[in-house]
Amino acid sequence: METAAEPENLAGVRHIILVLSGKGGVGKSTISTELALALHHEGKKVGILDVDLCGPSIPRMLRAQGKAVHQCDRGWVPVFVDREQSISLMSVGFLLENPDEAVVWRGPKKNALIKQFVSDVAWGELDCLVVDTPPGTSDEHMAVVEALRPYRPLRALVVTTPQAVSVGDVRRELTFCKKTGLQVVGVVENMSGFACPHCAECTYVFSRGGGEELARLAGVPFLGSVPLDPELTRSLEEGHDLTQEFPKSPAFPALTSIARKI
Ligand code: ADP
Repeated sequence: METAAEPENLAGVRHIILVLSGKGGVGKSTISTELALALHHEGKKVGILDVDLCGPSIPRMLRAQGKAVHQCDRGWVPVFVDREQSISLMSVGFLLENPDEAVVWRGPKKNALIKQFVSDVAWGELDCLVVDTPPGTSDEHMAVVEALRPYRPLRALVVTTPQAVSVGDVRRELTFCKKTGLQVVGVVENMSGFACPHCAECTYVFSRGGGEELARLAGVPFLGSVPLDPELTRSLEEGHDLTQEFPKSPAFPALTSIARKI
């Protein structure tokens, strides 16, 4: 089968992975960010494309809010979030005059921006581009899939929490993947237990094993459980540098193991 000519800006991008979740609040943006940081600590060059147009939270997580995206002859230059310039980020958050402003665009305008994100960001050489999508299945998902599918086999990682309701929502997400030809590389269970920093005992605050069960039912790999990190919210609120702080997090070993599997 002949494939269409790929946008020049994607030529140096080796792998693209979409991060999906059945609903909001399960930690999809957190996992996208942490996955990128874990890949970075494995020595990879990573990009993050935040297509969560209505709730772009990654610039804030990576202390990049308010930074400007510049134009070059190949399109937009993404924002670098670390000193070595090995983690780059593009988000609608950089294009809004006021970062707290809600994006109230209709479908066609969103689709047009996503197409531009896919073709007009000058990523350079990347080992992996992590695409953070909105929760559920929306116009943005279809737009990103349609914009990338002609050029690449698309792969997705699905995030859920241990509770049944999230697992039910994520089942619909898996159906979406099947229908649109997205290959699910696996399921990640986030907020899976709380590792006590004092005695190292893990307490399963919510129920347990939902992600694993879902992966088994869907016939896709279970990539791992990411524990609750009590320091994460504080770190974000106090504006700590996650690129430095993340290796100390109880979530770091889990994400490193997941990063090696994708
Ligand atoms: P989503 O992208 O699915 O809407 P977020 O990544 O924005 O979810 O996470 C929702 C909230 O949960 C955020 O406040 C985030 O800091 C917190 N959170 C996510 N994962 C964890 C975790 N493993 N430990 C502690 N807090 C977490």
